[in-house]
Amino acid sequence: MNTHLLSKSSFIRGIQCDKHLYLYKYHYDEMDEISEMQKAIFKRGIDVGKLAQQLFPGGIDLSPETHSDYEEPLVKTKEFLDNKQRIIYEAAFQAEEVLSVADILLNTDDGLKIYEVKSSTSVTDVYLIDAALQYWVITKAGYKVNDFSIIYINNQYVRKGELDLHQLFRIESVLDKIITKQSWIEKNINRLKNVLGQNEIPQIDISEHCYSPYICGFYNYCRRHIPENSVFDLSGVHLTDKYEFYRSGILSMEELTDEIHLPRSAKIQVDVFKNGKQLIDAEGIKNFLSGILYPVYFMDFETFQPAIPLFDNSKPYMQIPFQYSLHYLESKGAELQHFEFLADASDDPRIPFIENLLRDFKDIGDILVYNKSFEIKRLNEIAEAFPQYKLKIDNLISRIKDLIVPFQKKYYYTNDMKGSYSIKYVLPALVPELNYQNLPINEGGLASLTFESLFDENNPEVINEKRKNLLEYCKLDTFAMVKILEKLESIV
Ligand code: SF4
Repeated sequence: MNTHLLSKSSFIRGIQCDKHLYLYKYHYDEMDEISEMQKAIFKRGIDVGKLAQQLFPGGIDLSPETHSDYEEPLVKTKEFLDNKQRIIYEAAFQAEEVLSVADILLNTDDGLKIYEVKSSTSVTDVYLIDAALQYWVITKAGYKVNDFSIIYINNQYVRKGELDLHQLFRIESVLDKIITKQSWIEKNINRLKNVLGQNEIPQIDISEHCYSPYICGFYNYCRRHIPENSVFDLSGVHLTDKYEFYRSGILSMEELTDEIHLPRSAKIQVDVFKNGKQLIDAEGIKNFLSGILYPVYFMDFETFQPAIPLFDNSKPYMQIPFQYSLHYLESKGAELQHFEFLADASDDPRIPFIENLLRDFKDIGDILVYNKSFEIKRLNEIAEAFPQYKLKIDNLISRIKDLIVPFQKKYYYTNDMKGSYSIKYVLPALVPELNYQNLPINEGGLASLTFESLFDENNPEVINEKRKNLLEYCKLDTFAMVKILEKLESIV
């Protein structure tokens, strides 16, 4: 077995926080559970990496058999380089107990050209650190690197027909930038090796660094001492200010005195928490309701964002609507009707989506959504991609009203809303018998991933189950709006 103390990812962890590196190496069990969202982001990175290999076809792939066993790739990389193999994917190098794996390597007469593939849409500082570490390892291992580039996604690319990889990907040389970082890299490698040699967990308290460059995997472990209803739950308060409270010894909202200046929303939140009473501004609610005229539709969309555009007239990471739920009340107290649409995961969903949606609407009636900018943006994007629907879409948009307003403006606030006006908090606070907790899909991100996964799914039972879960989730979003409106009406 090869032994390495540090790798690209553990080095980045150590740059974020010594304790993060140490916990990851010696107390892995304490790490927060990896969410489905994080797994999907990881898989996306792998898929994008595989696709980028096609920019340099004909290479030999040295990916390890198991995730952490690099003994064979290290030996084979050397052999293939000695034998003048021109292109290698996942070439492994090690120097001074630091491991580095290059996504794509070109072996030229002038030295190695290395390409690191990222599924994001720009070159960030953390990518430069990652590249600089790789450069350090590969040159220390005795190779000449004559160029180092980052391949990332061009979010301005609009797919027309077959994928054009040379348009989809941007390639940017970062060689000059990473050469200037070499002494910093070496200094930190030595420092982090010392950290790993310690007998105790480094004593580092939580602070703003826990979020950058990524939210730390030990976030919950390090925050076990934070009480419920803490200053970190305050809404509309900047993260730095929350940590200022924390550093000055104020952890719970209970400890925030009236003299401490807070934004209006946080002030309301603290007052409601302390006096235990809900806040109801009946006049504000009444004014809001006076602007809503029956018949009323309740509308919600679900979207997914493929990194690689799957359809013509779409860009990387574009939000593609694939599902809607629509509840309809002809008048107050009338029988509730429901309409819904969920696209097949086989083709561009946008045209069937918009055609069904337009068909389900009558010419009159307000359309209530929760956070209207999202739905309006999606509709405008469809109108731009398919101008034949623009007139009808513009008419729909002109009828949209936002049910978030009374909660955003704090006309109605209870402590159960936890400072948030997201429907995921507002619904259980107002209608406790309805909530998302027991649904297999309980948030939009998961709905999006579930739909995307259907493109690779062949098992009809799994497909049916996932579709059922998607329909159930989206339906609850609009049913929740019906119940919230009912609750507001009952108040005034
Ligand atoms: S949560 Fe913060 S303090 Fe704890 S290990 Fe992670 S970065 Fe370090």
